[in-house]
Amino acid sequence: MECPATSGKTLTKLSPDSGKPLCEAVRSEAEDISIAVQSAGNALAEWSGLTPVQRGDILYDITRLLREYRNEMAAIVAMETGMSVNAALGETNAAIAQGEFMAGEGRRLYGRTLTSAVPDKYAMTIRQPLGVAGLIIAANTPIANVAWKVFPALICGNTAVLKAAEDSPATAWYFGRLAHEAGLPPGVLNIIQGYGREAGAPLVEHPGVNVISFTGSTAVGRQIAAVAGERLLKVSLELGGKNPLVVCDDADLDNAVNWTLLSAFSNAGQRCAAASRIIIFDAVYDEFLEQLVKHTRKLKVGPDNGDDLGPVINKRQLDNMLGIIKRAKWHGAVILTGGQRLTSVARANGFYMAPTLIGNVRPDDEISTTELFGPVACLYRVKGFTDALRLANDSPYGLTASIHTRNIHRATEFTRKVQAGVAVVNGGTHGSEPHMPFGGMKQSGNGWREPGTEALDVYSDVKGIYTNISPDDAYA
Ligand code: NAD
Repeated sequence: MECPATSGKTLTKLSPDSGKPLCEAVRSEAEDISIAVQSAGNALAEWSGLTPVQRGDILYDITRLLREYRNEMAAIVAMETGMSVNAALGETNAAIAQGEFMAGEGRRLYGRTLTSAVPDKYAMTIRQPLGVAGLIIAANTPIANVAWKVFPALICGNTAVLKAAEDSPATAWYFGRLAHEAGLPPGVLNIIQGYGREAGAPLVEHPGVNVISFTGSTAVGRQIAAVAGERLLKVSLELGGKNPLVVCDDADLDNAVNWTLLSAFSNAGQRCAAASRIIIFDAVYDEFLEQLVKHTRKLKVGPDNGDDLGPVINKRQLDNMLGIIKRAKWHGAVILTGGQRLTSVARANGFYMAPTLIGNVRPDDEISTTELFGPVACLYRVKGFTDALRLANDSPYGLTASIHTRNIHRATEFTRKVQAGVAVVNGGTHGSEPHMPFGGMKQSGNGWREPGTEALDVYSDVKGIYTNISPDDAYA
């Protein structure tokens, strides 16, 4: 069932490509959140009463429909984000893979059998749902973000209230339609639209919510953690990053340049895993810089399949980035390429930022320590491995990291010592595949990992069950 906000209010979603209105979305507030939470609560007994295999079958049906309508879904994602249709299709395929993996978990929702010190005592653990899951997501990869949360929450037997990102309302809405059409029982997944303070905060505060899973900025994550802490609510936080990519003197420089471009600029740098701190050994700095700048200048910026990156999601995001770059320049930063909004006729009305490389910044500058969430990377020159590792770890964040080297000792030492949830050798800084855990250290998260089987730990409780028997009674 689709319904307007109790207040009748709506919000206007703008196209990041043209700056013009794309659609109106419901602007929910606390009263609407209560209705959604109640709806999820009402559906809980029946949904959690199904076997995990039965739940998995329904999730498979949703996934099948998502596959059937992936072009339509990708078109919506592309329209809402400004990314190319091909990029949106790639993201939709990742969402489908997530659905397939989590549906399969219905047949593997294992507990454990354990030993006991006591004779004739049998011990095991089972997984149980938590209740109503409150899911809050960012807009950067909208359908992947929906899938990352909804599928694991539901397979574990929870019902859910998903607070869509205000910058990608239609993606969540369309997913909801597909889920409904696939036969997901009413009330199991409730999608609410609206702003963070008006719709997200009441969801976190609602006493009927039993777990919150949040993907978004560290600042908001901190607020959510404070509220959740007050009422001892389980909360999984997947937050921001300021990810280092290290280029050693023995790196394959072509490969390193290629991965730096992809890591820094794909999806217009709006990836929590984006490489925004490029740390380069002195011996290869000049050569690497020349290649990187040359290739960055060739990148095509626009919404089409032939383009390398699109716009950022909204004007606030663009202005925030430009402000930080301006302040960095006051402090001596050197713009190596880019640094400004695109002003050509085709791009001037959209939220387009030129792919930007910046040098001559200090590790403790605002621009080095603040996540920009745009196509902007800073370059740092270091003497060698010790300095590179120290600088990589000199950050409030700890999400992903990458090193480019042919030296097995450096690669291993780096992956072991770097403070990041994901470490990569000779590749980009990236998220995880659907069956692998992803999450960050330090201010990039609060220790949980999603997706992979690790996500099941977020969305379920483990219960220990002990059975004492009297073997003699078996023969009575
Ligand atoms: P944001 O924190 O502003 O918003 C994220 C979501 O939270 C939105 O749906 C928003 O409406 C909601 N929200 C805002 N204020 C809230 C509040 N007080 N209470 C409850 N909900 C609230 O983030 P953003 O700018 O939309 O997204 C970008 C951020 O997301 C970046 O920091 C990025 O690194 C992070 N991110 C992290 C991951 C990850 O897996 N670690 C993945 C994608 C994005």
